[in-house]
Amino acid sequence: MTPMIKKSIWFSWLLFVPVGLWVTYQVYPPPSNLPVWEVFAFLLLMVVVAAMPMVVNNTPIFLIQWVSLAVFLTYGIFVEMVLMQISVLILLMRLRVQKSDIYRFPLNSLMFFIVSLGSGLIFYALGGTHGAHLADDPYTYILGTVYGISNYGVNTLFLILLQAVVLKLKGPYFGKDFIWETVTTLITFPVGFILYELYQSEMGLYSLLFVGIPFASLSIILSLYYSSGKVNHFLQSAAEIGHQLAERLKSDDVLDLFVQKVIEMLPVDYAYILDVVDDKELKLIHKVEFGEMMEPVADPLGKGKGISGLVWEEKKPVLFHSKKQWKHINSGYIPAGAESILGVPIVRNNQVIGVLVLAANKKRAFEKSQLMIIDILCSHFAIAVENARHHEKTKEYSERCALTGLYNYRYFENMLTAEFEKLQFGHRDLLSLILLDIDHFKSVNDTYGHQSGNEILIELAERLRKRIGSMGTVARYGGEEFVILLPDMMKGDALKLAEQIRLMIANEPFTLLQSMDEEGKQLLVNITASIGVATAPQDADDSLALIRHADRALYVGAKRSGRNRVAEYVK
Ligand code: GH3
Ligand code: MG
Ligand code: MG
Repeated sequence: MTPMIKKSIWFSWLLFVPVGLWVTYQVYPPPSNLPVWEVFAFLLLMVVVAAMPMVVNNTPIFLIQWVSLAVFLTYGIFVEMVLMQISVLILLMRLRVQKSDIYRFPLNSLMFFIVSLGSGLIFYALGGTHGAHLADDPYTYILGTVYGISNYGVNTLFLILLQAVVLKLKGPYFGKDFIWETVTTLITFPVGFILYELYQSEMGLYSLLFVGIPFASLSIILSLYYSSGKVNHFLQSAAEIGHQLAERLKSDDVLDLFVQKVIEMLPVDYAYILDVVDDKELKLIHKVEFGEMMEPVADPLGKGKGISGLVWEEKKPVLFHSKKQWKHINSGYIPAGAESILGVPIVRNNQVIGVLVLAANKKRAFEKSQLMIIDILCSHFAIAVENARHHEKTKEYSERCALTGLYNYRYFENMLTAEFEKLQFGHRDLLSLILLDIDHFKSVNDTYGHQSGNEILIELAERLRKRIGSMGTVARYGGEEFVILLPDMMKGDALKLAEQIRLMIANEPFTLLQSMDEEGKQLLVNITASIGVATAPQDADDSLALIRHADRALYVGAKRSGRNRVAEYVK
């Protein structure tokens, strides 16, 4: 809603409503013997009804037309207009309209003025009169029905015009709120006739009580019916989200999906997830503000510190409707604009493993029933994250060598097959492979011990990983053999790289931490390696041949020719 539109709403209100009321008063004055106290009783009934709106799809449904029908049929258009205006005021106050939405006062006032005026004028144009007994005068029944229909029709027309022309929303304009409004209007309109009839009879003012009480009960029941439907719907989507979370195998994906779904479900402006680290502090690990993911930078929080620290300590969710309620416990990283806050512990095995904090700039953005749903979602999330982390760990174990942390032979083999497929489908032009074997490693083991041999393997793995970086993949091929896969690298470049690696091993001694010499100094050991290089497609048509040929170059070209050298495969 632009400031321009808001201004024109105020302007239209000023132009039509005060003058319109005055003109209506002049043209259709209220009866001269108006029983002021009885009108006041009707006003009271309207105010009570207005204070209990049902909210469907964020649209308040205002079951008041039945009282206004009785008021209109009894006292005429002007009294009905004034009572309706006061009720709208009460309704909006009850809905706690925000300062930024203050234009809703003139807008609703204008709308109900037009509705009252439109349906009243139609009634008079068709020759309707007031105070008639419906039983004696069936025509008034018809006119009363016409009044009801036009009241409803003008209202609906106004709402559609507002959405289409002013707010420029694309349809559908007949959502769930429209259906609810129609059904409830149909149910309640006849009540208006009953109220009118009873009020005209000996029952008089008592009729307000006799009709008002069952009506109030009806509207409470309808409200409960709607909210239980809503909770049902939330529960269903919570179960669905739970399934989707369980299907994700990466913990980051689980986190992303969880936050995305929560934001879709609730009117969230800010979402944070904090992780309990070592049962000592809360670390911010995920931060979304206005739908955008942000870098999660914030000082860690201690137990009991700030809103999330409190949720952690108490293991209980919190719900705040406005800043006033949480200002005193704030730790500082909730944005200044936030009002509503919902904080839920993420619990696993009766232990808090994290905290979810949702916030919105709007007051009263979250309801208690939503807190329960988010609580359920958090337990789905806790299980899904743990499963994903477990899966990631298992995968890591099955892919990596425990000693060096490099990929193992099994992983390397799969990768080589995949890379060869890319080569065959033309997604790659070249694939070079470097195979490396430490020279006389057996005697290194014999001299310094197996444990020291292990240390050398670890350091060599680290050197290779650093040297290759993102150029290719390093894997432990076997005992003291390493393999490096280099996609899109020409053989000449692979040979140069292999030579650099050979020098990097031969020229820099390896440090042994375990064994020290007599003076307590760490031992330095010099080793060398022999290296074979082959490149597809020129040297091999399939993955096994590529390994075989690199191996052949290693043994024939490098080892047999004296070790500590690089050899390429030649046919
Ligand atoms: P060359 O390759 O130069 O012919 O000699 P080599 O002594 O390296 O040859 P060989 O392949 O016969 O021996 C490899 C040795 O590597 C055997 C084994 O003791 C050692 N080795 C294999 N895996 C490990 C390991 O994980 N840790 C340690 N410390 N030694 C290992
Ligand atoms: Mg070997
Ligand atoms: Mg060897």
